[in-house]
Amino acid sequence: MAGNTPPRIGVLALQGDVAEHTALLGTLGVDVVDIRQVHQLEGLDGLVIPGGESSVMDKLTRLFGLAKPLQAAIARGLPVLGTCAGLIMLAQDLEDGIAGQQTLGGLDVSVRRNAFGSQVDSSEIELHIEGIGGPPMAVALIRAPLVTRVGKDVKVIATLSDGSIVAVEQGSLIGVSFHPEITGDDRLHRRFVELVKNRQFSAQ
Ligand code: GLN
Repeated sequence: MAGNTPPRIGVLALQGDVAEHTALLGTLGVDVVDIRQVHQLEGLDGLVIPGGESSVMDKLTRLFGLAKPLQAAIARGLPVLGTCAGLIMLAQDLEDGIAGQQTLGGLDVSVRRNAFGSQVDSSEIELHIEGIGGPPMAVALIRAPLVTRVGKDVKVIATLSDGSIVAVEQGSLIGVSFHPEITGDDRLHRRFVELVKNRQFSAQ
């Protein structure tokens, strides 16, 4: 990324809420690319891993040979925003995964899949997120994971009123339990784009 060239932000487009993130990022003046193949990771400045079904996303990233290159890019410092299933993909440790389910890792946290029970399969909540000014954000929890452990380098940036951890940040990685892309509030994406611009990272 040089000069005034807009940052290139990918959306992992194997499964899940791809179109919503792509559309939202498209309004923020960045170059958006749907990622389905390894060569598309070249020159990326940031990546969004959407919500969806993490066990399917895990299988597809491995099937398409994307898992190892993604892990390498994360290890090199590629900024990544993981939302819901995307948070699960970024978590170092997973509770209640399906048999054999793996994650990419990178975020030193444990997450529990589908942690809110059937009565909270889906709900819209208002949340204050550290680093985001103004009124609380309206976000959706949909069969959401919960962060059950955070490593010492991980910053908690949002909790529910009962203290449950639903958003974390570690270096250039942001992971959130909720869907920020379907309630029409673009502030978390803006925060991520700022992070990407500040990192000036290019995964060559
Ligand atoms: N329960 C899903 C999973 O395990 C996550 C749900 C979501 O992304 N909305 O991947």
